[in-house]
Amino acid sequence: MGESTAKKKEYSTKGMSSIARKISVSIWLKRFGDVLFLDFLILVLVCGSYFYYCEKQVDWGSGDGSVTEEEWRDNRYFITGQDKTDLLYVIQVDEDSVYKFPVYDFLKYVFPGAVVLLICQGLRLFFAMFQTSEIRRKLKPLNDLAVKAERISGLSFDTGQFESLEHAIESISPDGPETQIHTGNKDLQSIEVALNNLLKRMKESQRQQARFVSDASHELRTPIAVIQGYVNMLDRWGKEDESVLNESIEALKNESQHMKELVEQLLFLARGDSGRNTLHKVRFDLNTVIREVFEESMMIDQKHKYTFAECPNAFVVGDIAMIKQSVRILVQNGAKYSKEGDTIRFGVKAEGGQVSYSIQDEGIGMRDTEVVHIFERFYRSDQARNGETGGSGLGLSIAKWIVDAHEGVIEVLSRPEIGTRFTVILKKAED
Ligand code: ADP
Repeated sequence: MGESTAKKKEYSTKGMSSIARKISVSIWLKRFGDVLFLDFLILVLVCGSYFYYCEKQVDWGSGDGSVTEEEWRDNRYFITGQDKTDLLYVIQVDEDSVYKFPVYDFLKYVFPGAVVLLICQGLRLFFAMFQTSEIRRKLKPLNDLAVKAERISGLSFDTGQFESLEHAIESISPDGPETQIHTGNKDLQSIEVALNNLLKRMKESQRQQARFVSDASHELRTPIAVIQGYVNMLDRWGKEDESVLNESIEALKNESQHMKELVEQLLFLARGDSGRNTLHKVRFDLNTVIREVFEESMMIDQKHKYTFAECPNAFVVGDIAMIKQSVRILVQNGAKYSKEGDTIRFGVKAEGGQVSYSIQDEGIGMRDTEVVHIFERFYRSDQARNGETGGSGLGLSIAKWIVDAHEGVIEVLSRPEIGTRFTVILKKAED
């Protein structure tokens, strides 16, 4: 692995040097072009100024100055003497009037300036040839980035690493106590943590399922035992004793009804867990559903007083049958856990983007330590267990499942001996 990194580094440094060299050459050529262009401009400017100066020295006399191009050219020429320094620029006005300008004198003035300029330009071009290292230094952050990107894109594990992970996963038994993957490999640490978290969640859900099955069996054992007891009693004395017969039939009816309800509740939760409870959501007025349960409660249960406070414009989107079921669970609890003659209050509210319904009783209430458990499956407070209320501890789990499925919230306010209020908050339907 170390060797391959070194190779990669060497390769990337080489690559960077050749790129820097290419950039350096192209910059140098551009500078050279600029120098040539500048020198050409200076030459044109200096020569132009010289010839303009010469023209200014000439007296053209009385002529009107209008000449053809040919005449103009014939009147201006260069002549050389024996020595090179004798080069003259001549302007001939007419046969008598001839102006001669010694070019060498002019060059004498210009030459030192030209030499200084050329030396400066030469030095600049010379030093520009050595700027590759500077370019390489400036390119380094970019190159580092590219090398890192290359390393990330080419990130690969040794097959050995994967094998150790595979072994660690295989050695885990879903039922065994050891549910942690540990390979000791640092590169695989994040995968290990993610897998261990997943395993923890799976184990927790498996534990919940097992507890649910065991609690359900336990709950079903009681009515079955009661039914068996009455059947035995009927078998022994029921044929002769009519009072035993009637009592047993009554008890069998009650217990089988209780068992039916329990099995239905278990089925509902099991279907919910496996995602097989389908909701048929429609837009409806919550007042209508609450009023229906309010009226049916008054009809079924004459031992309590019922009141209902409606609220206009309380539309929600949801499964009507399921929402009705959640209301029934709360109302039945209100009746179960309060005395005869107590009042149970139904209320609907619409505030902001929320619509809520509440069921409030004046019953036994609960302590805060009990309230935190009431949505757990099969949970029943000691008081509820001791009383003859006959619940199963599944009602609120079902109500919570329904409210969760509607993305709602259940709030509980309860005080022992004062009463309990359940409020279910749902999203208001758009108009
Ligand atoms: P159960 O069938 O026992 O009523 P639930 O799931 O509906 O089962 O309720 C769980 C427990 O919460 C009850 O056993 C009881 O202890 C408590 N509880 C629920 N509703 C009320 C209430 N309105 N007043 C007092 N306690 C309540």
